[in-house]
Amino acid sequence: MNRPRALFSSFRRLMDSESWAMVARALVLAAASGALTGLALLALLPASAALASGGAGRWLVVLACVGAAAAILEFMQIRTGYRGALGFMRTLHHAVGDKIATLPLGWFKADTAGRLSRLSSQELVNLAEATGHFLYSMVSNAASVVVIWIGAWFWDWRLGLLMTFAAPMLALFMNAARRLTARGHALTEPTEEELASRIVEFSRCQGALRSCNAASAGLENAFSTNAKAGRSAMLWSSLGLLMSGTLTQIIVTSMVYLVGLLAVGGEFQPLEAIAAIGMCLRFTTMLDAVSNGLFGLEERRQSLIGIDEVMDAPSQAVPEVSKKQTDPGAVALRDVDFAYESEHPVLRGVSFEVPARSMCAIVGPSGSGKTTIARLISRFYDVDTGSVAVGGADVRELTTEDLMAQLSMVFQDVYLFDDTLEANIRIGSPGADDAELRRAADLAGVTEIVRRLPEGWSSRVGEGGRSLSGGERQRVSVARALLKRAPIVLFDEATSALDAENEAHIVEAMEELRRHSTLLVIAHKLETILAADKVIVLNSRGEVAQEGTHEQLIAVPGTYADFWAQRESAAGWRLVRHTPARQRARSSYPSRP
Ligand code: ADP
Repeated sequence: MNRPRALFSSFRRLMDSESWAMVARALVLAAASGALTGLALLALLPASAALASGGAGRWLVVLACVGAAAAILEFMQIRTGYRGALGFMRTLHHAVGDKIATLPLGWFKADTAGRLSRLSSQELVNLAEATGHFLYSMVSNAASVVVIWIGAWFWDWRLGLLMTFAAPMLALFMNAARRLTARGHALTEPTEEELASRIVEFSRCQGALRSCNAASAGLENAFSTNAKAGRSAMLWSSLGLLMSGTLTQIIVTSMVYLVGLLAVGGEFQPLEAIAAIGMCLRFTTMLDAVSNGLFGLEERRQSLIGIDEVMDAPSQAVPEVSKKQTDPGAVALRDVDFAYESEHPVLRGVSFEVPARSMCAIVGPSGSGKTTIARLISRFYDVDTGSVAVGGADVRELTTEDLMAQLSMVFQDVYLFDDTLEANIRIGSPGADDAELRRAADLAGVTEIVRRLPEGWSSRVGEGGRSLSGGERQRVSVARALLKRAPIVLFDEATSALDAENEAHIVEAMEELRRHSTLLVIAHKLETILAADKVIVLNSRGEVAQEGTHEQLIAVPGTYADFWAQRESAAGWRLVRHTPARQRARSSYPSRP
């Protein structure tokens, strides 16, 4: 976990310069109006003494002037302060959102969705509120306290002495009370994150949860753990509040007692004593306000630590300008080692090249790292050692825009945005005209979906595309890739064989993609493998076991021959040796012109 930075600097870096300037101005105004309020209270002492001797006029003028100036400054502070807090609220989401967009995909874990949704909805708003409610009030009251404390020394050393003891004592107790509150928060924070994740899971994965009858258990556990932690946290923070509240009362009583003693001893006139008691009461309420402000900010510390963790997470380094691509359309992996978690290597020493405008099939057992290779080419993750080159340039030397311009992806986990069908395809190439869009949709089989849906192209697909079937979602994703016409297409066939109709569309789309682009397919269908110019065979250790054309590979005993025999028997195929397999394959995937 990152070391928690100072509260203030955590706030500061979440603001843009404009809202920071506004907040800083409001803080200066708060300090000035607080100091004037303190002066006005102090002026009550000589004014009341003068009142007793009949010469209060001069002091009343001073009181009125200082009071009016304090009120004007406070008004200015509130205006500027709220504008600053609103600006902060506006920029907070941008600051966190911009940061998240630069993080490598490896940063996003299973609980990230819940954590981020809580952070962006609840915690960021809480923080912005804290600025408006606590920060200014704390600074203003702290300034008043300092002025009254200094003035008290000048007026009567015993009063000054009492205040001098009171403030650090209170600070000490406040600190202890804050620790107790923080202890409570540390208990609830993880349970709240867990609860948010379980709620997100509960709403997203209803089908899976119901099918294994696990719907209620995880969520109920999260609720009861959270409630238990909440009760403990309440106990801790109540204890903290009790401590600071009791101490405040002790200080008030001591002050009133001291002033009473001085009055009885004849050192304060009656009116002066009343004014001094009033000032002491005000002094303690101000101390209380300072401590409340500190408490309020303290309560946000956990949120700030959570935000700090996001803001401090190492971003993926992206160059300002891309390196020149010397071999457009080509893909090459050189000695790539990669692990999602360091103790479980996934790819070991993987090297292969895919020349521009060729078709390469990657085959291997489940879990051998085929999808991982596609993710590394897309730079969703960075390799541990070795390199991945796209168009002849290391992917780490390309800007995200340039890399993504080179690639189209048709992956297994197709995610569609909660928008219309048309928008979901256009995202591949926003500038494409209607004719191009219709052609891509025809080829990928989306036109049939459009005809079926009552609102046609304007039908919304729901969050993640949930109103479409898995096969339909993949067709939309294929149409996107067709429209984009990127030089390199990464294609995961896994779900393409969902149904015969879907498969026919996928075959047709792949033929089209092949005409214009380099095609790297995580292949499952035998036809696809036969049609490839090159087959990369991974073994279960994540190594390239063999590489070559189908004819070359099938001719020798090894992983590929075993794999092929297994697949053939599963598919009910029989390989006829010496039959020009590629010729058969070309009947499905004609070679490019
Ligand atoms: P394939 O596509 O060949 O089935 P993958 O590339 O999906 O294999 O996965 C290779 C290995 O990496 C598997 O053991 C899998 O459990 C693991 N893996 C995949 N994705 C992640 C991830 N996001 N975090 C941790 N491990 C992962």
